[in-house]
Amino acid sequence: MFQGLSEKLQETFKRLKGKGKLKEADVNEAMREVRVALLEADVNFKVVKDFVAKVKERSIGQEVLESLSPAQHVIKVVHEEMIDLMGGASGKILIASKPPTVIMLVGLQGAGKTTHAAKLANMLKKQGKHPLLVACDIYRPAAIKQLQVLGAQLNVPVFSMGEENPRDIAKASITHANQNGQDVVIIDTAGRLHINEELMGELRDIKGSVKPHEILLVVDAMTGQDAVNVAESFHGDLGLDGVILTKLDGDTRGGAALSIKAVTGCTIKFIGLGEKMDALEAFHPDRMASRILG
Ligand code: GDP
Repeated sequence: MFQGLSEKLQETFKRLKGKGKLKEADVNEAMREVRVALLEADVNFKVVKDFVAKVKERSIGQEVLESLSPAQHVIKVVHEEMIDLMGGASGKILIASKPPTVIMLVGLQGAGKTTHAAKLANMLKKQGKHPLLVACDIYRPAAIKQLQVLGAQLNVPVFSMGEENPRDIAKASITHANQNGQDVVIIDTAGRLHINEELMGELRDIKGSVKPHEILLVVDAMTGQDAVNVAESFHGDLGLDGVILTKLDGDTRGGAALSIKAVTGCTIKFIGLGEKMDALEAFHPDRMASRILG
């Protein structure tokens, strides 16, 4: 994950450490390199600009430059600002005081919604909850089957009503959960290749009918800035409670992870690290920053 970015930043910091005492020009040079590395990793342009400005502001004072290990100090500032960029720690589902807790997963086709609905059910089941998976992706013929297969594998019930209106399926699933002692309802919705009014209208409809406690956007980290744009649109239209950033096990560059919070204000709650059912982790900005900085 983020190999190119990590390598570039590590090289920059190695050079900085090798200099001993630092001059303002050394910090400026290092920040130029950090800027290029972040842009190459597909981090949003404005996010990079603000980030570098903040790090510089905190790194160029007399106190830092004359300290015993100025390079270490600059690296620490980069680390702290990177954590700040990615937002507060979360990785928690808000459990409703009156069950069932309703979680609605939204996103474009192929982002990993169905897979992550099942991964979330698996995680919640291990925490002692009784989840119900709900198949509202009625357009992709294989989606209902895919959810049923994953549900069977995890021993988690799956609620489906074929190709009925997704709003009605969602509504009926809540009644079903109440009658069967399921305390968390996870709704897998349909995606599209691109955002369009039909998709958003359908999602607003489902939202209106079940009033989810959590609307989580599932986005593919491999799509970089597109993931950020998708998050911005969905947040504007539906009001997201968080993001699940998927496919971080692949060769992603880091742009989505580092930009989503700063651009949209939405926190990343979970990350997907593979196709297996246990490849789901809570997102920790501090751990992510350490992974990036090595
Ligand atoms: P949906 O259309 O949003 O429901 O997407 P799916 O859940 O069907 O996922 C699309 C493809 O991405 C499937 O082949 C999944 O196995 C794969 N996938 C989902 N999440 C991850 C992940 O975190 N890592 C990897 N490598 N593959 C994933």
